[in-house]
Formats: sequence, C-alpha cells, structure tokens
Amino acid sequence: MEAILPGYRKKKEYLICVDSDGCAIDSMDIKHFQCFGPCMIQEWNLEVYQQKITLLWNHINLYSMTRGINRFKGLAKALEIIDREMTPIEDLDSLIRWVENTQELSNRAVEKAADEQDSICLKKALHWSECVNQKIRELPKETVSPFSGVRENLELLHETCDIAVVSSANLEAVEEEWTRFGLIEHVDAVLAQNAGSKQSCIEKLLTFGYDKDKVMMVGDAPGDMDAAKANGVFYYPVLVTHEPESWENIGEAAEKLQNGTFAGGYQEKLIQDFVRNLRE
Ligand SMILES: [Mg+2]
Repeated sequence: MEAILPGYRKKKEYLICVDSDGCAIDSMDIKHFQCFGPCMIQEWNLEVYQQKITLLWNHINLYSMTRGINRFKGLAKALEIIDREMTPIEDLDSLIRWVENTQELSNRAVEKAADEQDSICLKKALHWSECVNQKIRELPKETVSPFSGVRENLELLHETCDIAVVSSANLEAVEEEWTRFGLIEHVDAVLAQNAGSKQSCIEKLLTFGYDKDKVMMVGDAPGDMDAAKANGVFYYPVLVTHEPESWENIGEAAEKLQNGTFAGGYQEKLIQDFVRNLRE
C-alpha cells in the first residue's frame, strides 16, 4: 500500500479533522444548484417539472439526512420519486439495481455496466455524470470560497491543535483550493480521496498517537458524523445554511475538547441540532 502521510508527526496533544466541501469551503450549493440538478432535468427532459424536481434534488443532496450522498445513489433516489410521483423513467430498475450492487460508484463503472447490459438508463446516468463534471469545470473560480470565519478560526485552532483536512474529494483539487484561499498554512496534513474513506483517514491519523478523546471531526454531512463515531472521536457539525455561526462557535468546541468537557451533554446537543437541522 502507498504510504499515506510520509514523515507526519504529532505536534500537539489535540487533533482537529476538517472536511472540505460544504464544511470549510462553500462549494456544495453551487454545484447542486447549477450542475447536478439542471443536468438531470436536461438529460431526462424533465423541464415541465423543473421547480418540483429542483426542490427534490436539493432536499436529497443538501438539506436532509442523505446530504453528501454519492451522486449515483442520489440520482437513483431522485429518479425513483420522479418515476412514482411525476412521470415514468424508462429502464429505471437497471440504475437502481446497479447502485445497490456495484463495487464501485464511478463513471468508469457505470460505463461498463451500461455497455454490458445495453441499458438506456445507465447510459443516461453516465452522460448525466459527464455533463455534471463538465459544468463543474466551467464554474467560474470565484463562485467558490471558504465560509465566513473559516480562515480566522482555523488559525486560532492551529495554535493549540494539529489540523488535518479529511475529505473524500480529489487530493489535487483540495490542495489547490486550500492553497488559493490561504488555508493550507493552518493545516498539518491533507487526507483526500486517495487516502481512503473518511473513517479510515481518521483511523490512520489516530495511529500517530492522539488519544481519541482529544480528537474531533468537523463536518457537514451524516457521513462525517458516522466516520467520527466509528473511530470513537468527537463530532463538531457545521450546520447547513448556518455555516458562519457554526464556525464562529467552533472555539467553544475546541475549548471543551481541551478541558475534557466535550463528552456527554455538549456532544449530544451538537448532534441533536445537526440532525434537527437536516430534518426540518
Ligand atoms: Mg462535506
């Protein structure tokens, strides 16, 4: 296996892991508003239902407990509802079966399955995914920026804690963005897609000698919380539509981490607020 974090060493007692997309960087909304949803409407000629479908897409991918879901899973979920409530989607079963059974949710894998099964819906899913990638590449760079308060607070946290980016996005993209926004100097390590799942990234970081109760994961999606829980570390949620407040309050979380009062009521309240924010 390729060595991840060669030469990394623990410098502080405390470690804060930070997700990138939708947590530190305000990049999720724009991609869903301008790329994912519109490309689906276009690919399946759903213009008549545009308003309803846009709300549905954003609910699944941004504002509910499926926030951060894989794109193909999100697509299957949305099309299932569209098929049931709006208009029939041809060959939808092929896509549903594929997302449930495939070992890999990627363009390459959907292309292979589409050819093997000669499936119209899988072919459309691939074309949609490529259209999304193209649209994301075309987004003007200035449409993406860190949430307000991220830079200042990372700088503060970095005085007393090691900081690691833990992201499931492409490594080069994460490094480029964190460098461009002047965040990288407050970071000790970047673990991205190539380093494995978020759960295994945190696990890897723990091997450098941090106590679990001195580590917190900062994230915006249920998957981030699950990765924290699976490793027995704390979870600090950045609440969608309230991101600046979340970043403003992160100093309090770091204080609680350092004086040993994060566990129990405080952690439970954070999780409660997080779940409620994605349910209402
Ligand atoms: Mg995220």
